[in-house]
Amino acid sequence: MRLIAILALTLAIGLAGQASASDRIKVLTSFTVFADMARNVAGEHAEVVSITKEGAEIHMFRPTPGDIKRGLGADVALWNGMGLETWFERYLENLGAVKAYTLSDGVEPILIGEGPYEGRANPHAWMSPGNAMTYIDNIVAALTETDPANAQAYAANGEAYKAEIAATFAPIRAAIEALPEEKRWLVTSEAAFSYLAADFGLKEASIWAINADDQGSPQQVRRIIDLIRDNDIPVIFSESTVSPKPAEQVARETGIAYGGVLYVDSLSTPDGPVPTYIDLLKVTSQTIVTGLTAQP
Ligand SMILES: [Zn+2]
Repeated sequence: MRLIAILALTLAIGLAGQASASDRIKVLTSFTVFADMARNVAGEHAEVVSITKEGAEIHMFRPTPGDIKRGLGADVALWNGMGLETWFERYLENLGAVKAYTLSDGVEPILIGEGPYEGRANPHAWMSPGNAMTYIDNIVAALTETDPANAQAYAANGEAYKAEIAATFAPIRAAIEALPEEKRWLVTSEAAFSYLAADFGLKEASIWAINADDQGSPQQVRRIIDLIRDNDIPVIFSESTVSPKPAEQVARETGIAYGGVLYVDSLSTPDGPVPTYIDLLKVTSQTIVTGLTAQP
C-alpha cells in the first residue's frame, strides 16, 4: 500500500516535471557569454542554447547544418549586434521567424580608433560591469516579451544578478583607483577591452584594433613598441581566443612583463578558468590589476 503511494507520487512528480519542461521557452544566443547571462535571468523558465561553443572565435563563424538543427524551435534570439557577429543574422534566416534582440541597445558606443575598421563602433560592449546592467535589462525585456507569464521571475532574477555584479567589481574598481594615474594603462593584443578600460579609468592601447583585422603585422608591432616606450608602460596582455605570440614578442623586445591572457569573447567549459560571465570579467580584471601592481 505504502509502496503504491510512493510510486503514484513519483509518477505525479515526473509528470509535473515534464509539463513544466515543455512550458520552458527556448532562448538562442550567438555566443556563450550571453547564454550564461540569459540563464541567470531565465532561471528554470528557459532552455538556453549558444550557437558557438566555449572557446570559439566568434567574429567570423560558419554555422554547420548541425548548428541550424540545434536552433530549430527557438522562441527568441539574443545577440550583440554592433557589427560583431554578422553571421548570426544570416544564421537566423534558416530558422524562420524568430524575434532577435540586440543586447547592446542603449550602450554608448566607443569607436575604433585605427586600422581598416576605424570609426566603427567597437563591438565588445559587454566587457564592463557598467554595461552589464544594460545587457541584463535588455535580456529581461526580451524574455518578458516572449514569455509574459514569468515576467516577475525575470525581473527579480535580473535585479539579483545586477546586484551580484555590482558587489563583485567594487573591490577591483577600488584597487585600480588606488594606482598612480600614470600606471593606469591597459595594453592588449586586440582592442577588445575599450569598455572595461573606460569603466575602470584605464588608458588603452592594442597591437591591432579588432580580430577581423591583421593580427600582429610588423607595422602594428613597431607602433605599439614605440607607445610602450614613450609612456613607460609596465605590462602587456593577450586574449584567450588569439595567439599570444605578438604580445609575447612585444614584451621581449621592450623588456616589459607579459601579463598573461584576458578573456573576452568566449567562456570556458565548466572545468576551465571562466565558466561564467562573472568569472570572465573577474579573472580578466584581476589579471589586469595583478599585472599593473607587480613590482618590476
Ligand atoms: Zn573580439
